[in-house]
Amino acid sequence: MNYILLGPPGAGKGTQAKKIAKKFEIVHLSTGDMFREAKKFDKIINKFLVTGELVPDEVTVDMIKNRLLKDDIKKGFVLDGFPRTLNQAQALDLMIKSQIKIDAVFFINVTFEEAIRRISSRRVCSCGASYHIALLASKKVKKCDFCGKELSQRDDDKEDVVKDRITVYEKQTKPLIEYYRNARMLIGINGLKEEAEVFAQISEYIDKNKAKKGK
Ligand code: AMP
Repeated sequence: MNYILLGPPGAGKGTQAKKIAKKFEIVHLSTGDMFREAKKFDKIINKFLVTGELVPDEVTVDMIKNRLLKDDIKKGFVLDGFPRTLNQAQALDLMIKSQIKIDAVFFINVTFEEAIRRISSRRVCSCGASYHIALLASKKVKKCDFCGKELSQRDDDKEDVVKDRITVYEKQTKPLIEYYRNARMLIGINGLKEEAEVFAQISEYIDKNKAKKGK
């Protein structure tokens, strides 16, 4: 069972990917998380992250290629934030051709207004927890409910960078909708619904797919 989550920044890919991975016991692969970890040691990666630009395809494809060699992905995986360009999608096709099959690409569809609203209210903790201060506030608002550490705003969630990230999405990632629609892999998900309802739409599809495969 291997899935891809597609959608603009702020669509809820990370939140939904975590839920999918937990419920269906598959691996969550977030290129954003991998790069945020890498930026601690690599100033060049950091430069892309703070400006909201995409890390060059060669670097990203290599990172995913190496990750897909690990044994744990045999359980299945959900890709969150990859592919983000046509080059990356084609590279992924080549990588997985014979061994792994992608079961579906969920396109989480939200308006840009909603995406920007969600991003501007997002606060994160270094333990990986994420909150929406306007929606799902941490009980202590500025502290993480899980570990008690201070919450902060991602550098690339600040207003001027968000606009650039949306432009990057429009130019470089949006063509993937057509790419996967043509490949008959695209499943449209209404991302404007509540988090639980969005998850219900995805879960229903995965359950049906599992039943069809007799797993
Ligand atoms: P995310 O957490 O998915 O919003 O990603 C945060 C940042 O990591 C992006 O704005 C890019 O700078 C970088 N990044 C994540 N995934 C990719 C990708 N597939 N290709 C290039 N850059 C990426």
